[in-house]
Amino acid sequence: MASIDGLPPLREVIRAHDLVAKKQLGQNFLLDLNLTARIARSAGDLTGADVLEVGPGPGGLTRGLLAEGARHVVVVEKDPRALPALDEIAAHYPGRLTVLMGDALALDVAAHLTPPVKVVANLPYNVGTELLIRWLSPPAWPPFWQSLTLMFQKEVAERIVARPGDDAYGRLALLAQWRAEPRIVMTLPPEAFTPAPKVHSAVVHLTRLEAPRYPADGAVLSRITAMAFNQRRKMLRSSLKGLGPDIEQKLLAAGIPPTARAEEIGLAQFCALARSLA
Ligand code: SAM
Repeated sequence: MASIDGLPPLREVIRAHDLVAKKQLGQNFLLDLNLTARIARSAGDLTGADVLEVGPGPGGLTRGLLAEGARHVVVVEKDPRALPALDEIAAHYPGRLTVLMGDALALDVAAHLTPPVKVVANLPYNVGTELLIRWLSPPAWPPFWQSLTLMFQKEVAERIVARPGDDAYGRLALLAQWRAEPRIVMTLPPEAFTPAPKVHSAVVHLTRLEAPRYPADGAVLSRITAMAFNQRRKMLRSSLKGLGPDIEQKLLAAGIPPTARAEEIGLAQFCALARSLA
């Protein structure tokens, strides 16, 4: 396969460093460097930006990001077996790649990044949703990142971009769309990965909004959407009754019929309800 950077093909890298994929680390590698360069391009212009990549593995996407001109790439990888391969990439791009070994859920990477920051990652499926929720729910807004370009299982990607009435509509859509603009920019079949997962995947690009789309307290919004979608087919006056005896009045004050169901209610109305309860 044609190389984008003069470094060895990824199959050779994997063989040389004995990087047999481990299921428990969510390892499904992208070995086509033209594809990883395409994913890097879907994050927009990288030339003046720092990029955070979680889970570089043998470095296919990392190489795409560097070849596409990212100013500086910071990678966080849990599997120490990947370190020699990543060190080779760092040597090929002097001063442009910082390799941090550890768990992305535990490490604080902000100190290594200079704005503007773009996050680009083919995430391990077992931690992908948790990382997304963390990136969408920092204590202060705007967050450290300007955009997130992330690979998910297609079913999760659909939950992020879903609209009221869609089967996939729920808390993740509301959380993502309240303070960001998410869209699916690419879908990939299982065969794009080695080993091939059971499901299709999709890349979601989220651009942050400078301020929330509608005013609301994040903690209240999070609580009411959790309660409402926990029993998504129940009427809201019943699924939200734990919020107080006057929940019907609060719903009406927010312009929501108390007999409506969570799956029919849009972001503007959930934010109005959060305000009337705050
Ligand atoms: N970016 C590579 C690619 O596209 O071929 C590998 C993607 S693979 C789906 C996920 C990667 O995340 C693996 O390299 C795995 O070791 C790493 N990983 C899994 N859990 C992690 C965690 N908690 N923190 C950091 N990296 C993790």
